[in-house]
Amino acid sequence: MTTTEQLYQLYLQHPVISTDTRKIAVGSLFFALKGDKFDANTFAQKAVEAGAFYAVIDNPEFATGDKFLLVDDVLTALQDLARYHRSKLTIPVIGLTGSNGKTTTKELINAVLSQRFKTLATQGNLNNHIGVPLTILSINNTHQMAVIEMGANHQKEIELLCSIAQPSHGLITNVGKAHLEGFGGVEGVKKGKGELYDYLAQTKGVLFINTDSPDLIKMQQERGLGAYDYGVREDINYVYGDLTSNAPYLSLWWGWKNKARQNIKTNLTGIYNLHNILAAISIGCFFGLNSEEINSGVESYQPKNSRSQIMQTATNTLICDFYNANPSSMFVAIDNMDKLQADRKILILGDMFEMGDDAAIEHTAVIEKALAAQVNECIFIGKEFASQQTEVANTNLINTTFYLSAEDAITGLKTDRVTNATVLIKGSRGMALERLVELF
Ligand code: ATP
Ligand code: MG
Repeated sequence: MTTTEQLYQLYLQHPVISTDTRKIAVGSLFFALKGDKFDANTFAQKAVEAGAFYAVIDNPEFATGDKFLLVDDVLTALQDLARYHRSKLTIPVIGLTGSNGKTTTKELINAVLSQRFKTLATQGNLNNHIGVPLTILSINNTHQMAVIEMGANHQKEIELLCSIAQPSHGLITNVGKAHLEGFGGVEGVKKGKGELYDYLAQTKGVLFINTDSPDLIKMQQERGLGAYDYGVREDINYVYGDLTSNAPYLSLWWGWKNKARQNIKTNLTGIYNLHNILAAISIGCFFGLNSEEINSGVESYQPKNSRSQIMQTATNTLICDFYNANPSSMFVAIDNMDKLQADRKILILGDMFEMGDDAAIEHTAVIEKALAAQVNECIFIGKEFASQQTEVANTNLINTTFYLSAEDAITGLKTDRVTNATVLIKGSRGMALERLVELF
């Protein structure tokens, strides 16, 4: 069996990892991972033929030459190698998790820190038990900082990711109603996300905290952790700030210790992004960046990932949030539309997935919240929303339509083109609501 130390020596010679035979980097170490529908042991030969330096496999039947390295379990070997590599690094590693806003906050932190340091951040949303080790293994000796997004939908996952990424600094964006099915309710979410605080408590790491979240403060106090706090009140010890506009891009001011207040105009929309921005500012301050660097880092960030991304069409303003949806992010997105100054406001909301037994209750709650908001029209798409339609039929005061699917909605809405509207389009990824953009 090949040991972690042996793999590490090979990795040092060829520090590139491949896991997909369609994208083999010549000279890379290929890890033959298993998925639900495939076993990459069967592709190991192909990987070597395509130029892999070695292929790491866990089925001896495929070890047909000296290019194959046998381990007990390929996934564990990948994670162990990443853990080992991380343990040799001396740079700060910022780990972040939370129910909502991880990717946005990670991108903002990266945008800020990159003003001064060579920073490595998680690519896209590669935040799971495979993505985190791959991200760690992409850190090389030119990097001065790393920002690692850690996602989870069940207990002990963040504990595992912390053991690999070994964050020296950390933050939880928020705890809310996301992945309720796997976590077993909101208390389960707090416990699961709290594994990052547990890790920081054990290792005496540095914590940044959203002090406007009573849940996070409670979790911090339970563990007796000190923290650098950020939020909207001026009595906050570390970084504070507030919005000056959200129409539809966010502008804000922020302050820190006795320094002069700063004003920032961002390319972000959504009032919930204020705390994501303050988190990035706090980390910038902590690592000694000056106000100009921090401001230009935040101002340079342009969301391009369908997470609260603004799209101006010839006739309408769209807030595209096709990437994900859960009760917490739906609520804040509706709040944002409620407060937005615009002539005509439309909510298009698609089903939220992974809700388990709470699906009916949570979809009803979103419908009620949407119907109570200051908007002109609500369009609900998906089977879950549609099945709650009768529950709310009598409370329907604003123009409301239910569609079973995105296809039905496209057909139904085609005849009723709108102009000069601000339209929020938000639903779980599986709803693929980007298909509705053509209507506006
Ligand atoms: P994922 O679990 O898919 O990785 P994520 O935590 O990385 O999600 P983002 O992709 O940054 O989150 O944002 C997804 C959506 O969550 C945003 O478009 C927005 O609707 C909502 N959101 C972002 N920040 C917050 C926040 N601080 N509080 C509540 N909702 C938020
Ligand atoms: Mg993410």
